[in-house]
Amino acid sequence: MTRYPHMLAPLDLGFTTLKNRVLMGSMHTNLEERGDWNRVAEFYAERARGGVGLIVTGGMAPNNEGGVFPGAAGLFSDQDIANHRVVTDRVHAEGGKIAMQVLNAGRYAYGPGCVSASAVKSPISPFPPVELDEAGIQKQLDDYATAARRAQIAGYDGVEIMGSEGYLINQFLVEHTNRREDSWGGSYENRMRFAIESVKRSRAAVGSDFILIFRISLMDLLPKGSDWDEVLQLARAIEAAGATILNTGIGWHEARIPTIATSVPRAAFSWLTQKLKGEVGIPVITSNRINTPDLAEELLADGSADMVSMARPFLADADFVNKAAAGRAAEIAPCIACNQACLDHTFNGKLTSCLVNPRACHETELNPEPAATPKSIAVVGAGPAGLSAAITAATRGHQVTLFERSPELGGQLNLARQIPGKEEFNGLVDWYKTMVALSGVRTLLNTEATPELLAGYDEIIIATGVTPRTPGIEGETGANVVSYIDVLRHRVPVGKRVAIIGAGGIGFDVAEFLTVGDSPTVNIEAWKQEWGVTDPALHRGGIAPGGPAPDAPLREVWLLQRKAEKPGKRLGKTTGWIHRAILQMKQVKMLAGVNYEYITRDGLMLSRGAAHEDPELLAVDTIVLCAGQLPERSLADQLESAGLKPHVIGGADVAAELDAKRAIDQGVRLAATL
Ligand code: NAP
Ligand code: SF4
Repeated sequence: MTRYPHMLAPLDLGFTTLKNRVLMGSMHTNLEERGDWNRVAEFYAERARGGVGLIVTGGMAPNNEGGVFPGAAGLFSDQDIANHRVVTDRVHAEGGKIAMQVLNAGRYAYGPGCVSASAVKSPISPFPPVELDEAGIQKQLDDYATAARRAQIAGYDGVEIMGSEGYLINQFLVEHTNRREDSWGGSYENRMRFAIESVKRSRAAVGSDFILIFRISLMDLLPKGSDWDEVLQLARAIEAAGATILNTGIGWHEARIPTIATSVPRAAFSWLTQKLKGEVGIPVITSNRINTPDLAEELLADGSADMVSMARPFLADADFVNKAAAGRAAEIAPCIACNQACLDHTFNGKLTSCLVNPRACHETELNPEPAATPKSIAVVGAGPAGLSAAITAATRGHQVTLFERSPELGGQLNLARQIPGKEEFNGLVDWYKTMVALSGVRTLLNTEATPELLAGYDEIIIATGVTPRTPGIEGETGANVVSYIDVLRHRVPVGKRVAIIGAGGIGFDVAEFLTVGDSPTVNIEAWKQEWGVTDPALHRGGIAPGGPAPDAPLREVWLLQRKAEKPGKRLGKTTGWIHRAILQMKQVKMLAGVNYEYITRDGLMLSRGAAHEDPELLAVDTIVLCAGQLPERSLADQLESAGLKPHVIGGADVAAELDAKRAIDQGVRLAATL
């Protein structure tokens, strides 16, 4: 008897049956734009092999003006159809089903010549859109239908029409972006005509036996977004227009409320899908921050939805469904919703991958094979770099011994998981523990590796991590000065007024740790209150009239940096704004361009700029050092002096800008070659 009877139940759509209730949601990977369609095909085929019920591709433009950026992949020509056929054939050969998302970005298209309902520029794009005239609207609608038909010719099992997240169809739906006074604007009936026509024409183009998903925005998270009556009206009209399934989306990209970041509670918006489900006759899909089979099962069992969409979890682990079905859920590499290697890459024009799974989108080039000659390998340090290297090497058949000085596995991941909003790191550490045990790594905790202990191994991997940098400020050894490790690991007492030296990722983390009380991430109602989210049946767009209502901060905190740039500028592209917003809600004072003159028992003497102007005492009880890190190379140096050639990875290799993404990638790639 499976633990996941609802998740693994087939879904009969009449003309076809999906083998289970799991949809791999659309993600733009930038793979298609590289033109290597074998690589695109292998990315999707691996997920099909992993047992997912239905895959939806990244958004494909129906025309040049609708692409998310100039040159974005689409389905315009016979050559495009042939390229996509490589993908669909490979997915079908693995027993999978795949639908192509048709995405017209409208005013979110990052290029000149983008189009929209009205000429209302998006705050997240420098390009003002051209307002479509009647002929332009007809062309856009026909292009949806043409793209759907081309997808059918290319062998897809269906299409998903993207109607949420603030893209073109959404732009027609709400007054925020639709200021028209003709038959496509004004009343809601007029504003929803574009959405309905896109579905009607697409259905007419593909016939009845073809999956047509419409992704509807359940909550725009904009003051002038749709209200719930409008959402229901649209959902019913879309069903009548011929949609097979309703997928759901939350929030426009320009909304300043997070919807998928790690600090958003799991399944934070599934209550909305549950409200919709009884109102339409076609299956409804729930999405956003769902990353385990247990949660998927719970949502299906409690009637929140007919299917569950997960996107990033399929980057983290292509075998998500098969592992769950085989009773091996603990082996599923968890998506921690960090965005670091997926969305941050996509928005920086880089190829998507995954922090926990560097093979994602690299399936054709990173394939650790069984080792021809098993070796004995010592790995020193059980942080992300060492763990990844140890597991990969052991999986290849090597005899691996992992030395860890502390009593636990995880390294700096154990610091990250102390931070409110970073609870997902718990799952990652648990997964590493499971995989270390299953892969047969011999683990020696509480064991300081020495050159003597390491003698005789065929290969030595040094993953000893980093040591905190001491900034060299006069008075920094005083009793009122502590390091981030003292605060996060040793929980030393911290006063009510605190100065944090260093505003990198760790400075931000420590500021959240010191100001946020109970984590809103584990309490959906508390999180909604914190960010000002309410039921769109009560207030248009789901925006609470009073705005965010965060709890009072636990302490008064100053976050300091010497650089004159905006603090947090170098945090993740898609998540930095969330960390800044949280600190603003907690009234943290972020000061840039400061000099640290000296520390006394009364606090920290600061001055400004190159001329050290306006020296002033910041009267604080505690000063926390978060001034970056240096490689911990002492063991590597000893081994090298003895003539050995250890492999040095992770922070022990390069500490600057070290994060788990680089550490894991380096660990896996090294171990794949030994
Ligand atoms: P970091 O990002 O390099 O930041 C170090 C901070 O210390 C900077 O604000 C720097 O600013 C300051 N600093 C450097 N040298 C200093 C000195 N001699 N005296 C005083 N201040 C000094 O390092 P981190 O915060 O330790 O983070 C380490 C890595 O973990 C980073 O790559 C970070 O992105 C990653 N991380 C990521 C996250 C995340 O959410 N993704 C969270 C935590 C950590 P000034 O030089 O301008 O003063
Ligand atoms: Fe999930 Fe982070 Fe991997 Fe993206 S990079 S798929 S958010 S774990």
